[in-house]
Amino acid sequence: MSFAEIIGQEDAKNLLKNAVTSGNHSHAYIFSGEKGSGKMMLAEAFATMLQCENPTDDACLQCHSCKQSLSRNNPDIIYVKREDGKANISVDVVREQIVNDVDIKPYSNKYKIYIVDEAERMNQQAQNAILKTIEEPPEYAIIILLTANHNAFLQTILSRCVLIQMKSVDTESIKSILKNRYDAVDYQANMVASFAQGNVGKAIALATDSSFNDVKSRVVALCKKAGKMEEAQIADEVKAIKEENDSDKKNDNPDKFEGFMDQMLDLITLWFKDVLLYKATLNDNLMLFKEDSFDIHEQANNCSYAGLNEIIEAISQTRARLNANVNFELTIMLLINAIKENTK
Ligand SMILES: [Zn+2]
Repeated sequence: MSFAEIIGQEDAKNLLKNAVTSGNHSHAYIFSGEKGSGKMMLAEAFATMLQCENPTDDACLQCHSCKQSLSRNNPDIIYVKREDGKANISVDVVREQIVNDVDIKPYSNKYKIYIVDEAERMNQQAQNAILKTIEEPPEYAIIILLTANHNAFLQTILSRCVLIQMKSVDTESIKSILKNRYDAVDYQANMVASFAQGNVGKAIALATDSSFNDVKSRVVALCKKAGKMEEAQIADEVKAIKEENDSDKKNDNPDKFEGFMDQMLDLITLWFKDVLLYKATLNDNLMLFKEDSFDIHEQANNCSYAGLNEIIEAISQTRARLNANVNFELTIMLLINAIKENTK
């Protein structure tokens, strides 16, 4: 990974590149940002450039060290791993993989770099153990802690690390990545990029996740037909959504960014935002559900502004009810009825 391959994060990239070229780097960094925000990519670009034999304003990607870094086989870039099946990064892991290892000089590079993913999983003991290394590191050691929540660190750790916060990436840049690197077609790139709200990792996961398209198809079908649904059809739909939600909960996939219901509600919101936007502008350019523009136009003509606002309001009530564990079927039925009443 090189800095050039990372989109967005310009401030962080400049700071880290300057640290390498000036030789004026810190011995400890925290890269903080939500899942998918690109912390690991940034850490790997930084580590690769630090170890590069001929760095200019980025790693050369040609030298022996770069080749090792790119294939994650650089002996002096250490990915700290937690024990199998353990949720926490224990004090033993920190001692074994960092504290007791750091005094051994780099094998073949200038630096010895430790990357700790999900570092907020270090319990207090583990944090205290790593603190000593952060306080008095050997000249060649650099520790990079990646976290979704830097507030989980002891103040003593925070005060000794350079904190870099990941930024959200603009929709246009995400769209071009999806089109250029993942062969997404235009409307798909638009949809996914808007849905991901600045999170590149989430956008890529969605663009390559076939179940997202299934949820999208379900939402599109529901939004189109809700106005004409009979009571029995609504009951069937509620049942189908419940089954889908149950099976999603059962196959809890840690790589997935959000559950089925969150995706559904987000997509329903985007659909009605399209309707609202078209109603206000009579313009298709900003529309996400472009393939369904015929239905969006029709709903925009038939629905009032007040009705559309009621639907948006009903969606946020649905989220609140689900969070408060109100009966699932009842909650979904109320939502579908709200869509039905306002799109008749
Ligand atoms: Zn190189």
